[in-house]
Amino acid sequence: MSDVLVVSEHRRGELRDVSYEAITAGRELADARDGDLHVAVVGGDVGRFAEDLNRQGVDAVHAVSNGEEFDHNVYQSAVGALLEGTGAEAVVIPNSVNGLDYAPAVAEAHGYPLVTDAIGFEYDDGLTVTREMYGSKVETTVDVTGDQFVLTVRGGEWAPAEGVGDATVEPVEVDHPESGARVTGFEEVGGGDVDIADADVLVSVGRGIEEEENLELVEDLADALGATLSASRPIVDNGWLPKNRQVGQSGKVVTPDVYIAIGISGAVQHVAGMKGSDTIVAVNTDPNAPIFDIADYGIVGDLFDVVPELIDEFA
Ligand SMILES: Cc1cc2nc3c(=O)[nH]c(=O)nc-3n(C[C@H](O)[C@H](O)[C@H](O)COP(=O)(O)OP(=O)(O)OC[C@H]3O[C@@H](n4cnc5c(N)ncnc54)[C@H](O)[C@@H]3O)c2cc1C
Repeated sequence: MSDVLVVSEHRRGELRDVSYEAITAGRELADARDGDLHVAVVGGDVGRFAEDLNRQGVDAVHAVSNGEEFDHNVYQSAVGALLEGTGAEAVVIPNSVNGLDYAPAVAEAHGYPLVTDAIGFEYDDGLTVTREMYGSKVETTVDVTGDQFVLTVRGGEWAPAEGVGDATVEPVEVDHPESGARVTGFEEVGGGDVDIADADVLVSVGRGIEEEENLELVEDLADALGATLSASRPIVDNGWLPKNRQVGQSGKVVTPDVYIAIGISGAVQHVAGMKGSDTIVAVNTDPNAPIFDIADYGIVGDLFDVVPELIDEFA
């Protein structure tokens, strides 16, 4: 029996989706190891977060009330204290900017192996992790020796946790060492308040749109559907939409209910960011475009003909 500690993550007063996904990964791991699943929440509105996390089928929630969000020293000392306090030997951390800031330090401090950016794993007397390389062109597996490790999990790869709320919630006060870093604030890259990762319906536009002026067409479709506008990288590289709208390997990972790809070819780096969408609809003139390999519904046609028809249908 060997317990697992998942570290949740929050931003701007909300638990992030990847927290619930990490709990699913942690639950799988804890069950395979015949151990308990502990979840840590550090800083912010810990009382409210802990109540929420307690409803996700976990065994214990540890609420560290002191310490600042984004300060990796705070997270490192909180995780260290909780590993000692709970006896957990495996740590699951979101593969986010924040998670990647402290996961290596936790691993180093405890002498644990670190495997980052997991998209899957199997546990059978030991951990075998699946990762992707070369822009998702190659899948690799990594065997971890021993029961103690730190694993960071990619967002959108596990279903969000759904459980029951019978865990204990334990407030924890951690004596954080003096930090060499100071958090001065939070600024969204690319400006704007839109987080495409939160959208239920995304209308995503690619190079098939040809000109910046034509973006209005897809904006009208997004309006008609009550959807949020996102894009492939060339649209962002051209400066037509801000960076926070980019889906993909070097953009955001999104898992909406519906993802409508307009004039997007389906390059691996794009697909890496949206393949977890529930329903994928693609509009493309090229019947052999790779996006059709993962689309649930495909329309082979010119977007300048198809999109106005869709707007008429939904407006
Ligand atoms: C390290 C690295 C990281 C990357 N990260 C990302 C990332 O995060 N996100 C990302 O998106 N890309 C990323 N890329 C770029 C990626 O490889 C592709 O170049 C990019 O996704 C292509 O965007 P696109 O599909 O819009 O354009 P294209 O590949 O040019 O596809 C345009 C599509 O539009 C179709 N089309 C053209 N005209 C019409 C029309 N009138 N009606 C309908 N369809 C039409 C074409 O048939 C074509 O399939 C990355 C690349 C690298 C090397």
